[in-house]
Amino acid sequence: MRTPITEVVPCPYCGSKEARGFWELGPDSPFGVLQCQECKLVYTSPRPAVHTLGQYYPNDYAPYRVKPSQQRKRTWVDRIAGRAMERRCLPPFGNRRLLDVGCGNGKFLSIAAEQGWHVVGLDLSAEAVRIVRDKHHLPAYQGTLPFPQFPSRYFSAITFWASLEHLPDPLEALVEAQRLLTADGKIYIIVPNRRSLGAKLFRENWFGADIPRHLTHFDSHSLQAMMEKAGFQVEKMQGVRHADWLKKSDSLARSQGRKMGVKSLFANSLVARPLTLVANWCGWAECLLAVGSQATSQTLPTIEPQGVPCVETFDPLSLPLPLPSALPASPAKAA
Ligand SMILES: [Zn+2]
Repeated sequence: MRTPITEVVPCPYCGSKEARGFWELGPDSPFGVLQCQECKLVYTSPRPAVHTLGQYYPNDYAPYRVKPSQQRKRTWVDRIAGRAMERRCLPPFGNRRLLDVGCGNGKFLSIAAEQGWHVVGLDLSAEAVRIVRDKHHLPAYQGTLPFPQFPSRYFSAITFWASLEHLPDPLEALVEAQRLLTADGKIYIIVPNRRSLGAKLFRENWFGADIPRHLTHFDSHSLQAMMEKAGFQVEKMQGVRHADWLKKSDSLARSQGRKMGVKSLFANSLVARPLTLVANWCGWAECLLAVGSQATSQTLPTIEPQGVPCVETFDPLSLPLPLPSALPASPAKAA
C-alpha cells in the first residue's frame, strides 16, 4: 500500500472536524484551506503528510539563502541601521539565553548574538543548520518544538519569526515553549495576518498564504487564543507592515494565470505604500507581532530537567544532534 502524500487533519486549535472551505485552490490542487466551524481557525487540510514536508523546503528556499550583504562583516552603520521589527522589539543587550524556532540562515541569530544574547537556533532544514553553524559559528539543531533535550525554564526569550504557521502542531509547540521559558521570560511571534488587506484582495493568491507550507492561517483572535491556551498572557499584539506584499501577491496571481483586474492597481508601489499604512491603522497589516509572558509566573514550579544539567556552564552544543537527514517525529494527526 502506498503511503499517502497528503493528510486530512482536524482543527489544530480545538480538534473539531466540522470545517468548511475557506479559500479555493482549484480542482488540480491536492490541498485545501478550511475554516473550523467551532473556533473559526483557518488551516490547511488536506495538507502535505508530515513525511513529505521536507520536499517543500529545498535548499534554495528563500529563508535559507545567504544574501551577499550578509556575507561581509557587519559595520557599526549596519548595526545602527538594523531596525527590522524583530530587532526593535527585543531588549538590545540580552546577556541571557534566546531560542529562535525556525532560524533559517541565522541572520537574526547573529544579530541577537552581537547584542549579547546567548543564542540557540532550531530549524527543520539540515542546510539551514549547517549555515548557522559554519558561517555564523552559532549553536543550531535540526528540529522544532517540542525538543525534549532542552531543560525546562532555560530560555529568557523564545522567538518564532514567521515559523509558527509552518508547524504541523502549533499549539503543541507553544506548550513546549511555555515549558522552556523562564518565569520572567518573553515569547515573540510574527505570523502572516489572514485578515490583512492583501489577504482580503488576493485570497489564496495572497503572498502570506504560501500554501502548502503555511499550515495555519492566523488572525489576531486565533493567535491570542492559541497563546493563552498554551499558558501565555498576551502583552502586545500589533500589525507589521509589508508594503511590497501587494505587488508580490499580484505577481503570484498572474504567474498562476489568474486575472486580477482592478486589484492589480493596488500593487503599484505608489498606491501600495499609503494604502498599507491605512490598512495597518485598520488592523489589516500583512503580519502580526505578538509578545507574551508566562500567565502563571507566580506559581510556576521549578522543573528539573531530565538528564540535562540546568547550570550556567551548560553548553548547548553538547546536546546530541538529532537526525541530520530527516524531519523529526512530528505529531501527525489522524484524519
Ligand atoms: Zn477549531
